[in-house]
Amino acid sequence: MNPDVAKLDSLLSELQNFDATLVAVSKTRPDTDIKTVYEHGHLDFGENYVQELLNKQELLPGEIRWHFIGHLQSNKVRLLIPFIHLVHGIDSVSLLNEVNKQAAKISRIQDVLLQVHIASEESKFGFSLNEAADFDEIIFKNQLPNVRIRGLMGMASFSDDKKLVATEFKSLKRVFDSVSAQFSSLKKPDFNILSMGMSGDYKIALDEGSNMVRIGSAIFGDRK
Ligand SMILES: *Cc1c(COP(=O)(O)O)cnc(C)c1O
Repeated sequence: MNPDVAKLDSLLSELQNFDATLVAVSKTRPDTDIKTVYEHGHLDFGENYVQELLNKQELLPGEIRWHFIGHLQSNKVRLLIPFIHLVHGIDSVSLLNEVNKQAAKISRIQDVLLQVHIASEESKFGFSLNEAADFDEIIFKNQLPNVRIRGLMGMASFSDDKKLVATEFKSLKRVFDSVSAQFSSLKKPDFNILSMGMSGDYKIALDEGSNMVRIGSAIFGDRK
């Protein structure tokens, strides 16, 4: 039966050992499935498409914490800012600036994660690991009072090669630790979220230091 709340419960207890948060990825699922998981007591849901998210947000309880985990276009930012809990996929400085601008308009401070491209597959999205090494430039030289950079997000290769996946997660953890040390030295403890791991690789991600996993099909069943 989908969604599988027994699977959800076992995931949650597994995650407790790692102090990790579960984002239940509900893209393409009907709002009734989300309602089932919500009524089971879960509040964090992840969506990839702006219009789909807006439709669902309107139908579902305001208490739900919506995570935007897809690729976000600049012209859609203003639609999300009034309610989005965490934007995982900030992949350029211009997008970060746009979030700051839209959040300033409604006097909000928006929590975001910077997306880093760690997979061996080609992708247009995400900062490179080299750029990530210079995140202090982005973070400290851009004065962006209406964004709060909470951490990093990354996706490993879609591969059965567990060693490869572990190496990729490790590379993200390394950058996370170095940026997080810079934040702490400025007495800013807010940089503390490492979003990595999906249904197929979350165990590896947790072993490599993830504290937020984004899991869809393991809870809701395979997507069509
Ligand atoms: C779809 C998606 C997930 C969840 O994938 P599953 O394999 O269904 O767990 C996680 N993160 C991102 C960015 C996604 O697009």
